Amino acid sequence: MARVPNILVLAGLDPSGGAGIQADIQTLTALGCHPLPVLTCLTVQNTQRLNHSEAVTPSLLGRQLDDIARDIPIHAIKTGALGSHELVELIADFIARQCVDVPLVVDPVLAAGGGGSLAGNRLIERLKSRLLPLAALITPNGPEARRLTGEDDAARAGKHLLELGAQAVLVTGGHENSKQLTNRLFTAAEAPEQWTLPRLPGQFHGSGCTLASAIVAGLAHQLTLTAAIEQAQQFVQKTLEMALQPGRGQAIPNRGPSESNRHD
Ligand code: PLP
Repeated sequence: MARVPNILVLAGLDPSGGAGIQADIQTLTALGCHPLPVLTCLTVQNTQRLNHSEAVTPSLLGRQLDDIARDIPIHAIKTGALGSHELVELIADFIARQCVDVPLVVDPVLAAGGGGSLAGNRLIERLKSRLLPLAALITPNGPEARRLTGEDDAARAGKHLLELGAQAVLVTGGHENSKQLTNRLFTAAEAPEQWTLPRLPGQFHGSGCTLASAIVAGLAHQLTLTAAIEQAQQFVQKTLEMALQPGRGQAIPNRGPSESNRHD
């Protein structure tokens, strides 16, 4: 019997197939993991805009977590959109109770790329106070880092998020206007590491989810954090080079079978 790491993924459903739980499932599967997908919210959106988001009930999510944990070993956890502040509390309680030694990657999804909120103030407050202290890594993009900390500068935002209890902070540069894109990793122990990557033309929907999922896959395969980030950046770059344009709005990363398997 083949054995691959089981990754618990808590995220929202994006019916355009670009972001959210579909991005996570496709990425984790491509990188040799078995996703355990638990939905936090369902959204109404297409590749142009997010119109609505509705959280699942705490009792449904709580029963799903308990049933999974009773049966399947969880090797790593990734969170995306969290649905409601009640769900953040429930998820944090579950992790603190059952999975405290399991690597947790928190993608602090606050809004859709094309606009539309996925997190209110109470959710953000619980994310900072309850989930961040459990996180091996948090992966905010520039706007998320600014909203979470009130700091414009990536280094100050990174330091602030470390002070809230995350072990490491990767501030990604995809949403800035610079010619190239720079991702910066802040940890307590070391000077920041940074990677400068070519910025591909166009706007993408779901690249943040893809990056965070690819990092958690690397961690679950016992890569160091630096190696997991490097592998994940390469994976994202490839999915963006082959991006799909299913609708009229943003392109989405192509996380499907590799080129050799595709029938065009
Ligand atoms: N999760 C859900 C359910 C979403 O709808 C979105 C954006 O619309 C995201 C996550 C974040 O997407 P991105 O990877 O583009 O930051």
